[in-house]
Formats: sequence, structure tokens, C-alpha cells
Amino acid sequence: MHSQYDEEKIIIDRFGPDHKGSYLDIGAGGPIDQSNTYACYQRGWRGLAVEPQANMVAEFRRVRPRAPWLDNRLYARKGCMECWARYLCGGGCRMDSLLHLAEIHQPCPWECEFKRLLCRVALWIDRELKHWEAAQ
Ligand code: SF4
Repeated sequence: MHSQYDEEKIIIDRFGPDHKGSYLDIGAGGPIDQSNTYACYQRGWRGLAVEPQANMVAEFRRVRPRAPWLDNRLYARKGCMECWARYLCGGGCRMDSLLHLAEIHQPCPWECEFKRLLCRVALWIDRELKHWEAAQ
């Protein structure tokens, strides 16, 4: 088994060793080590692995040719490269995109508003602390 806490075993036990299902592995990490879905892939499952680490792309393509790589890094998220908060936010939560919009490349607009508000508050606090420290 490859997963960190036997998640693969839970999946295989639940569906049976001969089942050929589909998976959506968000935050997949590597294609083999500590993967929750590699055992499924080996049993013929098909699926989608979503992983923002660019260095994993080639490895996923090599190890899992049946599992399409969905490039969902910051620059591929709709509207993120025009957003001033992009390097603080990182492109938002992909799971939220799927849950709320059923579109994994589209950031969730109300969450974007909230994140930008948090960023503004954090930047304001940082500035105020620097002023306070300078005055000491
Ligand atoms: S706040 Fe929204 S649009 Fe801006 S970087 Fe984050 S996810 Fe992208």
C-alpha cells in the first residue's frame, strides 16, 4: 500500500478488489508515494489527480497515463493573474470551486472577496505593527 494512513485499504475494502471506479484526488501529492489513489489506479480505476506542485506533472504523466493531469496552478485559475492578492492567496481552494461552482478552474467569487478582505486586514496589521515598532 502507498497511502500514509491506509486510506487506499479503506477504499478497496469499501468497493471490493475487483471494482473499477473513478477517483478525484485533490491535493494528490506524488503519483505513488503516500498516494491515496495509486492502488485504485493499479486496479484499473480511472481518475483525475489535482496537484499544484509543478514538479509532479511529469511524474504523474509518466506513472499514470490513464489519469489526466489537470493543470490548476495559480496562473491557470480564471482571473487569478489579474488579482492583486494572487501571491498571498495562491488561487483559492480547488475543492471549494468544485463544491460551489462545479468548475475546478474557477475561483469561488464570494470566497475571493473574503480572502481579499483578510489580506487587506493582514497587510494593515503588518503596517501598524511596523509603525508601532518604529515609534518604540
Ligand atoms: S482572491 Fe480569488 S481571484 Fe484572487 S488570487 Fe485568490 S482565488 Fe484568485
